[in-house]
Amino acid sequence: MTQRTRKAVALISGGLDSMLAAKVIMEQGIHVEGINFFTGFCVEGHTHAIRKRDQAKPKRNNALWVAEQLGIKLHIVDIIEEYKDVVINPKHCYGANLNPCLDCKIFMVGKARQWMLENGFDFIITGEVIGQRPKSQRRETMPVVARESGADDLLLRPLCARNLPATLPEREGWVERDKLYGFSGRTRKPQMELASQLGLEDYAQPAGGCCFLTDENYSRKLADLWRARGEKNYELDDIMLLKVGRHIRPRPHFKLIVAREEGEGRFLQGYKNRYPHLHPISHAGPLTLIDGTPTPDELELAARIVARYSQGRDADTVEVRSVDGNEEQRLSVTPLKPHEILPEWQL
Ligand code: SF4
Repeated sequence: MTQRTRKAVALISGGLDSMLAAKVIMEQGIHVEGINFFTGFCVEGHTHAIRKRDQAKPKRNNALWVAEQLGIKLHIVDIIEEYKDVVINPKHCYGANLNPCLDCKIFMVGKARQWMLENGFDFIITGEVIGQRPKSQRRETMPVVARESGADDLLLRPLCARNLPATLPEREGWVERDKLYGFSGRTRKPQMELASQLGLEDYAQPAGGCCFLTDENYSRKLADLWRARGEKNYELDDIMLLKVGRHIRPRPHFKLIVAREEGEGRFLQGYKNRYPHLHPISHAGPLTLIDGTPTPDELELAARIVARYSQGRDADTVEVRSVDGNEEQRLSVTPLKPHEILPEWQL
């Protein structure tokens, strides 16, 4: 009796490890499809696509690109709403910044398990390597991810499987354990060697993390947003805007998002209908969104800050247009001096 082809769903982040994990399993004759989760915090070329100075960098979605290189289908799943609870209330705490990596892994593997069951797949693959990341990829956390996600021994990590107890796909002979790997630690060398052996020459360079939550500046801005709102919550627009512009909070109840260059200005244009905004008119200068409700005096302060970042920074007065819904006014202001923009305002 011929055995049916087994099917595995691979978590594809766009990095080298998940690419290798999928490839290693494909080499064993398993049908592999990829799954990638969109949380809103993903790095994936978003800011590169916006900023003018990053125009030379290739603007590719690495997860899609990896799938194309491997010749597999990729399912991109929007988890923005459900993921909020992971970011806001992580059971296993945050990493160095506001990155809930362990909870995130558990959540994503759990979602992959659900997808696997709904789509008639047999097991799940990740590119995890023991000791690769200090919080989420340790020997002790490997069984935690498997257990708390509900995936248990249907979760196979091809790159470090030989350091772990055999999973069901190995015990059942769907995959040969001898052809899996026993990588561990932070070094990337074995992965690079394996990539070369498998003929994978081009891949995204290993970075600190796959999302903005590992970024210190980004996490500081998110913490500020929660403080200002008096609750840990967010909408997609909030977290998108944290990736863009200069964020300045001159008073606790409002902040300014100042475009730093043309590309960011164009991106912020898309939010003009939803946020009050300021724009210098007597001189060239940045579009600036206002998040919060300044008093008339504070609006003038805001206009002076915007004037400071305009071409009229050394002029006596700069005309700034202020728009809030249907209300529009012109403010004639003196630009703030650099030392008047206090360091504690700058997020
Ligand atoms: S870096 Fe971000 S996406 Fe990656 S595991 Fe951590 S929280 Fe999740």
